[in-house]
Amino acid sequence: MTNGSNSGGSLLTRREAMCAVAGAGLGVISALRMSQPAQAAGEVLQTRLGNPPFPSWNTEFRQLAPNVYAYTQAGGPGVPSSAISNGACILGPDHWMAIDAFAAPPHAKAFLAAAKNLAGSRTCDRLINTHHHADHTTGNCFFLPTEIVGTEYCRQAVIKGGISNLAGRPESWKVGMEELKLAPPSTTFDNNSRVTYRYGNTEVHVMYNGSPAHTWGDALIYLPQYKILWAGDIAFFYVAPAAQSGHITKWIESIDRINKMDVDVIVPGHGPIGSKKELAETRDYLVILKTEAKRRYDMKMSPGKAAAEIEDKFGKYSTWTDPAAIRTVNSVVRLYAEFNDSLAPETDGPAVRAATQEYNAIRSRRSN
Ligand SMILES: [Zn+2]
Repeated sequence: MTNGSNSGGSLLTRREAMCAVAGAGLGVISALRMSQPAQAAGEVLQTRLGNPPFPSWNTEFRQLAPNVYAYTQAGGPGVPSSAISNGACILGPDHWMAIDAFAAPPHAKAFLAAAKNLAGSRTCDRLINTHHHADHTTGNCFFLPTEIVGTEYCRQAVIKGGISNLAGRPESWKVGMEELKLAPPSTTFDNNSRVTYRYGNTEVHVMYNGSPAHTWGDALIYLPQYKILWAGDIAFFYVAPAAQSGHITKWIESIDRINKMDVDVIVPGHGPIGSKKELAETRDYLVILKTEAKRRYDMKMSPGKAAAEIEDKFGKYSTWTDPAAIRTVNSVVRLYAEFNDSLAPETDGPAVRAATQEYNAIRSRRSN
């Protein structure tokens, strides 16, 4: 397995062919590896677990259409990539638009430097936040005084969350953290609205997802001319979906709605650029979670024990990036709250802590 010989790569090849017909050109604009994928380690892991390999991907811009660039940050087998999220640069004649602002100062600054190579003297006049999570909004302040756009829920949640202290993150992420300022969306839209921005000839639809899914305030960014969708964290490709703020049933329904949209290319919140094929796998993962959790909820099994059991049920998804215990525990706690009708937008910290303790005790007994 080599970089680029992945499903994201083959998808882009199809797009490349489409764009070549249009005379647009497309491809990797700049390879900006922040960490070298340790491919061999990934292959060893895959072989040991006997699951099909999946791709690693690079930190780079890829051109998806004229003046439209998706930005991914490296991840996949062997790449330490927790909370590494994606973005975008959409160029107009005088200005450009960004999507999402990353988890830490070095990531936001690397994106802005790379975008400058594409945008030249054009200034960024708008940043869209797909949702409030810190790995998509901590870098907002580095875009100021640019207009920041998000759902009203996103704004309120960014304010409530405060400035990220990057607790638990690698030291390398904390370089420049004294520069962080709280910068929530300054322009917000409610659950019924859709805004259309124009960058030259490119129409950019920014809209509420239509229901809770990954959070209560997810935005979709859709380019109808090119059938490209930035789905934010409704789409996790080859990365275990994080559901600590989610409504998993409505998340699955949201994916079904996206499947009815006229979309060829999907840029996920995490993972390589893909399509509805990869989105179907995100859905599949969530369905496994829900099905297995419901079975155990009906048996009156505690969420920590259920999470410990469910973690063995993911099959080919078990080696997706970041299958951290906390993701499964969070998801099961969310699902149990959904089943007993007590689900709230915010994470239930005490329930997650209790379930995590139980989960850890069970897993450590198993490994001894
Ligand atoms: Zn998120």
